[in-house]
Amino acid sequence: MEDCIFCKIANGEIGTDKVYEDEFVTAFRDLNPQAPVHILVVPKKHYSNVLEVKENDDIIAKIYGAINKIAKQENIDQSGFRVINNCGKDAGQTVMHMHFHIIAGRALGDKIV
Ligand code: AMP
Ligand code: ZN
Repeated sequence: MEDCIFCKIANGEIGTDKVYEDEFVTAFRDLNPQAPVHILVVPKKHYSNVLEVKENDDIIAKIYGAINKIAKQENIDQSGFRVINNCGKDAGQTVMHMHFHIIAGRALGDKIV
């Protein structure tokens, strides 16, 4: 996808502070961290958001497999973490390439649910 910043990160055109990569997924530190650990987990293939994921597509399983590994790598598997996906306008999605935030490293306080 042209002019998509996360596609450019996934294909190496733009550098980031990468923490994990496999065939399907890349993960890197958020530029504007909201907690001591703030990592974005991104499919290498472009999906605008979760509405583009079809029923038999295993990309979400791949993403959660990566999250599992990253949690151990970052030593947040015992203390805990939050995974957030913003989808669309009311959720405040700003980058239109599906991504999952891993937020951790402090008590995360108020929750919506
Ligand atoms: P969202 O509001 O869920 O769309 O989140 C987009 C996130 O991407 C924000 O937390 C930004 O700080 C982050 N972000 C945007 N550009 C970059 C970049 N080049 N490298 C790392 N994080 C980025
Ligand atoms: Zn993209």
